[in-house]
Amino acid sequence: MILIDGKKIAAELREELKQEVLELKAKHNKVPGLTVILIGDMAPSQIYVRNKEKSANEVGLKSEIIKYPETVEEKTILDKIEELNKDDTVSGILVQLPLPKHIDKQKVIETIVPSKDVDGFHPMNVGNLSAGYESSVPCTPLGCYLLIKKIEPNLSGKKAVMVGRSNLNGKPMAQLLLKENCTVTITHSRTKDLKAECLEADIIVAAVGIPELVKGDWVKKDAIVIDVGINKTDKGIVGDVAFDEVSKVAKALTPVPGGVGPMTIACLLKNTIECFKRSR
Ligand code: NAP
Repeated sequence: MILIDGKKIAAELREELKQEVLELKAKHNKVPGLTVILIGDMAPSQIYVRNKEKSANEVGLKSEIIKYPETVEEKTILDKIEELNKDDTVSGILVQLPLPKHIDKQKVIETIVPSKDVDGFHPMNVGNLSAGYESSVPCTPLGCYLLIKKIEPNLSGKKAVMVGRSNLNGKPMAQLLLKENCTVTITHSRTKDLKAECLEADIIVAAVGIPELVKGDWVKKDAIVIDVGINKTDKGIVGDVAFDEVSKVAKALTPVPGGVGPMTIACLLKNTIECFKRSR
């Protein structure tokens, strides 16, 4: 079984991006800039944002974090986004989720101009992705896609099963694999026989949020299994895939942690660079 080393693959990607930033700097005398808006002081968000800033600096991007207290008015955030939309030194804007309840998430997402939407959440980018046009792609599915391509460069005709249909993971992941000519099934909480669906799959991407939901006897021999889940349990952080069982049948499997997670941040940097290039 191939243990898909997301840490190593993400480090390689960051190295490529570092070179690309140097080339862009030489050509345009400017580097791509990522601005992150962080509202409140929730510990996980603080950690994510700090990691994003550290990685951005490592590859040579200009990065900035703008912090607001939990009680900030929605209008203040929307006005700031409008200002960043017009700022030529800002290539990508990310508002760290989740947001406080009094701030409308969709309004925030739609205020970011699509060309600076590094998260790929703006309806324009969602539409472009589903139509097969150029777009920003949400970072986690993009990272999963790059991991799958490392294992199997030609995905044409493969049967892929998404477990979970979130806008963040399952749906954009399905679009990426459809574009690769996979036959894609998207499952969810009302799917009648999830085990039977998974047993058909050459590729399974599990993004559910239920610890070890995907069992060893749900997986076809030699399938590629990507585990997006991050679940805190008594035995520590585990994914949505029963690692010990599935590792006995799968051809390749991502560990949790150290699989998809590191790719998510690397893909955010990649998206920032893509936004910069598209703006030139
Ligand atoms: P989400 O928005 O809560 O969506 C979960 C999806 O799973 C929904 O579509 C839901 O179906 C489906 N589901 C729930 N129970 C199910 C069941 N018994 N059988 C089949 N499908 C079921 O979650 P998300 O934001 O996509 O996140 C999923 C997991 O990925 C979480 O553990 C999260 O922490 C993790 N995550 C990791 C990263 C990373 O960088 N590694 C990034 C993002 C998220 P319905 O639509 O029918 O409700």
